[in-house]
Amino acid sequence: MSAQLNLILTGPPGCGKGTQARRLVEKFGIPQISTGDILREAVASGSEIGKRAKAIMDRGDLVPDDVVIEIVRQRLTRPDCKPGFVLDGFPRTLAQAAALDGILRDSGREPARVVALTVADDELRRRVLARGEGRTDDTEAAVAKRLAVYKRDTEPVLAHYGSAVKRIDGIGSLDEITARIERALA
Ligand code: ADP
Repeated sequence: MSAQLNLILTGPPGCGKGTQARRLVEKFGIPQISTGDILREAVASGSEIGKRAKAIMDRGDLVPDDVVIEIVRQRLTRPDCKPGFVLDGFPRTLAQAAALDGILRDSGREPARVVALTVADDELRRRVLARGEGRTDDTEAAVAKRLAVYKRDTEPVLAHYGSAVKRIDGIGSLDEITARIERALA
């Protein structure tokens, strides 16, 4: 494997990318950067960004590109990102992907590698509505919206990265899926 692991772990809501990202943190010694987690922390802290983001997130829409791009740009400058990072939930739009490509290029880093977890829609809906994390966007209406937004705005990001994208079956045990991701990256 190359020296730096700049990884985008993507997939629809409920595909398990957050769980797998946390496992990769331990395996590879790189930080997980979850824009969803960062935004939820902003909401909890009552910051200006949090106040703007809450209603958008609760209905399952995307927070504006400039907000999340700035969050990621700043986060990637921290020293723990030197060996790489696993981005979880970013980029979600073509504008975010183009911004990330530019950030990596301008900082002389390797281009991102992309792993996409695939899970059928019915299973996604079942998982999210069953997970009981108490997220205010895990309602029937918000989940339907998040799935639609994923197809409309995020699937084109996979096309942007083209044949570099490794698609991984997201059905199986946690260990199996982690092993599939590691094989795809080897
Ligand atoms: P999920 O993948 O289950 O939808 P996330 O935690 O990744 O959960 O995201 C939750 C919400 O946070 C999204 O529905 C969206 O409102 C907001 N969000 C997270 N990442 C981004 C992003 N990259 N761009 C815009 N909005 C985002």
